[in-house]
Amino acid sequence: MSTSQYDLVIIGSGPAGATTARFAAEQGLKVLLVDKRQELGAPIQCSGAVSRHALEEVGVAPEEEFIHEPIYGFGIYNEKGEKKTIDYRQLKAEEYGQEEGKKPLGYVVDRRRFDRYLMTQAERAGVEVWLKTEGLSYQPNNDGSCDVYLRRFNQAITARARVLVGADGLQSQVGKWANLRTHIKITELASCLQFIVDQVETDGLLEIITGHEWAPGGYAWVFPKGHGYAEIGLGVIPTMTDKNAQWHLDQFIKHSFFKERFRNSRILEIQGGGVPLASPLRTQYADNLILVGDAARHVNPITGGGIHTALSGGAIAGNFLADFLNQGRQPTAANLKAYQDGWLEEIGNKMWQLYEVKTDIFRTHDIRQRDALLFQTMSGYFSPHSEYKKI
Ligand SMILES: Cc1cc2nc3c(=O)[nH]c(=O)nc-3n(C[C@H](O)[C@H](O)[C@H](O)COP(=O)(O)OP(=O)(O)OC[C@H]3O[C@@H](n4cnc5c(N)ncnc54)[C@H](O)[C@@H]3O)c2cc1C
Repeated sequence: MSTSQYDLVIIGSGPAGATTARFAAEQGLKVLLVDKRQELGAPIQCSGAVSRHALEEVGVAPEEEFIHEPIYGFGIYNEKGEKKTIDYRQLKAEEYGQEEGKKPLGYVVDRRRFDRYLMTQAERAGVEVWLKTEGLSYQPNNDGSCDVYLRRFNQAITARARVLVGADGLQSQVGKWANLRTHIKITELASCLQFIVDQVETDGLLEIITGHEWAPGGYAWVFPKGHGYAEIGLGVIPTMTDKNAQWHLDQFIKHSFFKERFRNSRILEIQGGGVPLASPLRTQYADNLILVGDAARHVNPITGGGIHTALSGGAIAGNFLADFLNQGRQPTAANLKAYQDGWLEEIGNKMWQLYEVKTDIFRTHDIRQRDALLFQTMSGYFSPHSEYKKI
């Protein structure tokens, strides 16, 4: 067993961990980034929709290498198929469009290649990356450091760090090691499933289909994936239905107002996973430890989107830790609370507001009223004037 010393050990090289690592290393911290997978982003459990400004905020250029398809707006449907189109090519024709110099609103990215790209950026900033390395536990020491216990290719390794960053996703164990309350209520965990299909026409819009009939507790989607492919998926809250996500997706494809549109589609791939439609964790720090991304529930509780919030949370965490440790401050829980305070101020308080909005919608027992509220909220959320656009 050997011990190496770092300023930060980061567990999880998704968008949150890789971004935290890059921002911290760019400001001089010695960073070790580990991930238990041997191929990042695989198996894919994400539709990959992310806004352009989310990438711009963290200095990630929209490279062809990881982009499946540019996005120019949204089509929001109610349960009957009535559509509200928010097409930025028409709303702000001088800014958004396919022509040279005009920009898309966002992208559908290939998560495998995107995660790999973010990790490479971190490596270029000086981060040491170990794949196929699992975080097992951590132990704060008396001298202000902590020991992080890892398993790399079946070998036990201890890495000493000043701060351990848990960026280990929805099923985060790192928070549990520090006895943080990471439990997620079953009523707030959407079960998501999507099919990659061919022969479904799309037009540069993210299409979102609301309504209890199609996706109880969540919504269905049709996203363009480029090269004639599309993603058809949905998320449901298991306590709001006695059927599983696969049953609902089948119903949606065969019986919804889109059934003619989907008639010739063939399923090429099936992907799925859990998405927390929950509040952020109330405490995202402990002695020598902070959480970021899905691990801290930095997820939009209305859309379930977590790439943007993982990237921006990673930038906030990386900047904070660089300032904090470069000033020689002691990483006690009391001192690391400032990370969460800063995060709340920058984006977290808005996420709490969204959580209240979502809770109010699903507190409504009348299904028709609830459907109307969700449709209205989604339409407002994606409008050009939405105050939540940056989440
Ligand atoms: C079906 C589906 C569709 C989605 N679609 C979208 C979408 O279109 N747009 C969007 O914004 N969001 C979407 N999301 C949500 C998005 O995928 C997540 O919010 C995002 O990946 C969170 O990033 P992260 O870095 O926090 O965690 P993750 O991307 O989950 O990364 C965590 C990493 O930690 C590693 N890890 C875990 N435990 C350990 C350990 N003990 N040791 C070492 N490594 C460990 C994992 O291997 C993983 O690589 C979707 C989710 C699902 C399930």
